[in-house]
Amino acid sequence: MKILQKVLDDCKKRNPNEPEFHQAITEVLESLEPVAEKHPEWVEAGIFDRIVEPERQIMFRVAWVDDNNKVQVNRGYRVQYNSAIGPYKGGLRFHPSVNLGIIKFLGFEQIFKNSLTGLPIGGGKGGSDFDPKGKSDAEVMRFCQSFMTELYRHIGENTDVPAGDIGVGAREIGYLYGQYKRIRHDFTGVLTGKGIPWGGSLARKEATGFGLCYFMDEALRDNGSSFEGKTVLVSGSGNVATYAAQKATELGAKVVAMSDSNGYIYDKNGIDLAAIKQIKEVERKRIKEYINIHPDAVYTEGCRNIWTIPCDIALPCATQNEIDAESAKILLANGCKAVGEGANMPSTAEAIEIFQASGILFAPAKAANAGGVATSALEMSQNSMRYSWTFEEVDAKLKQIMVNIYRNASKAAEAYGQKGNLVMGANIAGFEKVAQSMYAQGVAY
Ligand code: NDP
Repeated sequence: MKILQKVLDDCKKRNPNEPEFHQAITEVLESLEPVAEKHPEWVEAGIFDRIVEPERQIMFRVAWVDDNNKVQVNRGYRVQYNSAIGPYKGGLRFHPSVNLGIIKFLGFEQIFKNSLTGLPIGGGKGGSDFDPKGKSDAEVMRFCQSFMTELYRHIGENTDVPAGDIGVGAREIGYLYGQYKRIRHDFTGVLTGKGIPWGGSLARKEATGFGLCYFMDEALRDNGSSFEGKTVLVSGSGNVATYAAQKATELGAKVVAMSDSNGYIYDKNGIDLAAIKQIKEVERKRIKEYINIHPDAVYTEGCRNIWTIPCDIALPCATQNEIDAESAKILLANGCKAVGEGANMPSTAEAIEIFQASGILFAPAKAANAGGVATSALEMSQNSMRYSWTFEEVDAKLKQIMVNIYRNASKAAEAYGQKGNLVMGANIAGFEKVAQSMYAQGVAY
């Protein structure tokens, strides 16, 4: 890197001790170097220096009372990263590992992902180090109400529209929305991922996982292959993983393994998704319960070794950095031909290098998992129109969006002499639209 090295160095210096954020900006800036060479006017206008700095970062105390009448304190975050092409949009993550660096890495990636969807949404992300696991519904409700009591003043249907992410599903969105409405006295599309009877979009729940498979299907076909008859590993058993596994199965693949943060199950006959949904969505239990329903399946404690199971296609759908260099090598040695990232940044930088050097199909998160936020934007459209589309209408739009994202990323990679490099293609295609908009709007931020 020549032109952008200083931007990267300055950004790292200004944001010490944030390894995930450093990882994300390094990957993006490295692939944007040829864009900086081609557009000296963007360098001159400080577009690169500005895009790595969030427009606004909000951190706040969230105090709430647990079931034992004890006061608990968590920290809340909302990083409003970039509003050049639309209102900030991105999920809320509730997980004990959440810190400012994680929220910034996610918010930064979100800028490009949202731009890739072709829809008018800027980038943002938020959350808390609160852990909903093991809490009662009443505790989760009190936490969400306290969280929204601060967040409400920073968001709005034309300003910032949060959604779910890890630990924030339909239940949490419901409590957050109820509190927002109570404070603002306003029924508005300020959150997405809402329940269907109160402004949610059909197919939003399925969108990230389905979208991942639509993207992979198009990419596989472009490379003379398909899901038909393939063996697939899916990590995680949450929102993204469950519906990725469902769509991969519908497209003719056999999903043989899934996981949660405690361990993974291997079912050589193909995972029974109805059982997974019952255990994870309805009963909120651990994935190891699966072997009580299917004694033929095998449960292994610890999720790391899921990648040692031979497969044709790997779909990491749990969390960041879940595939390291060693797992990447094992996947390749066992014949894996394609990796599609459902989670955000699930592969380490070293793992990505190994995948790319091997020439297999590698689909990066910001392109491959953009179906969730795209459908959230479709939820916003429906809320604005006070109208709802059918499941089939939303699903058809989602499919078209994912096909377009693949084609645009692919085209951008080729235009910069890197045919097949979807990491570079996605970064460039996502960036160019935002850069043009920032340039046109002057030094506003
Ligand atoms: P969920 O909370 O629904 O599910 C997360 C799954 O991953 C669970 O099975 C969870 O296990 C597992 N998991 C979480 N943290 C870890 C960890 N540290 N180690 C191992 N397993 C872990 O989240 P989502 O499915 O919504 O999100 C999954 C990923 O997809 C995240 O990276 C998210 O940012 C990304 N994403 C989500 C979108 C969405 O629409 N939901 C959109 C785009 C990206 P357990 O049950 O034990 O907690």
